[in-house]
Amino acid sequence: MNIEQKAKQTLSEIKLNKKDKILVALSGGKDSSVVAYLLKKFGYSTLPSRSERKGTSIEGFHIDLKMGKYSEDCLNAVKELCHNLGIKLHVYDIRKEMGNSMCNIRLNVQSKKSLKNCAICGVIKKWILNKEARKLKAKYIATGHHLDDEIQTFLLNILKGSPELNANTGVISRNIKNEKFIPRIKPLFYILEEDIKKYSLKHKLPVVYEKCPCAIDSYRIQIRQFMKSLNKKQKMNLMKNSEQISQKTKKKNEEIKYCEICGEPARNKICKMCSILRK
Ligand code: SF4
Ligand SMILES: [Zn+2]
Repeated sequence: MNIEQKAKQTLSEIKLNKKDKILVALSGGKDSSVVAYLLKKFGYSTLPSRSERKGTSIEGFHIDLKMGKYSEDCLNAVKELCHNLGIKLHVYDIRKEMGNSMCNIRLNVQSKKSLKNCAICGVIKKWILNKEARKLKAKYIATGHHLDDEIQTFLLNILKGSPELNANTGVISRNIKNEKFIPRIKPLFYILEEDIKKYSLKHKLPVVYEKCPCAIDSYRIQIRQFMKSLNKKQKMNLMKNSEQISQKTKKKNEEIKYCEICGEPARNKICKMCSILRK
């Protein structure tokens, strides 16, 4: 199966309705750009009938992290992609909205807590995405996570001694049922990163191939290095293991609370974002 067939099959597993609004979380990188390109190609941007015409069913959402030239390049790439695809783009300017660039937010946190760059940035981006997707009345958030990402997360959870965290993986975040939580879907879940790269190059998508300059000390980077030594078959075997563990550890309708500080859905009294930013 080629990448388009695999993505189509994954989307059919999720049973999307073409009228549901999908917000694609666009970073400017190849993975999320390919997601937007494929959704558009598969007809997810088809306008609803004239009587219920409210806009296209896919829209892009980009968080401008204000991390210098890298962020500028990402923003330009995302603008060009959305222009080419004819989809609406929403840009969240972190400096305007949160008062600081991601680099400064991270430095403030790291002066009090020993957390890696991506651990801080990832939590903040997820929080923003869920909140803004809800405001925009999106039914789903589509992300560019692919097979290599999923295996990395699986290995990370095993190495951290928390295999139960693998229950949260899957093509859709179905186990969290909460009206304030927008489910995330991963159309590239079964696709290898190298195939996505080839596809984005073949279709000449405007993409920033350079890695994020702040990803230097991430634990995930070490795992990524290790994964370079694996062949396709070994990766597929790891994926199968991950899915089996995920099925076994899946909790039904996990109880979700609301954060006492920001009111967003959370697993604990205080959400991850607020506990990170708290002094
Ligand atoms: S690689 Fe890490 S620091 Fe860079 S944007 Fe992604 S999560 Fe943030
Ligand atoms: Zn909170």
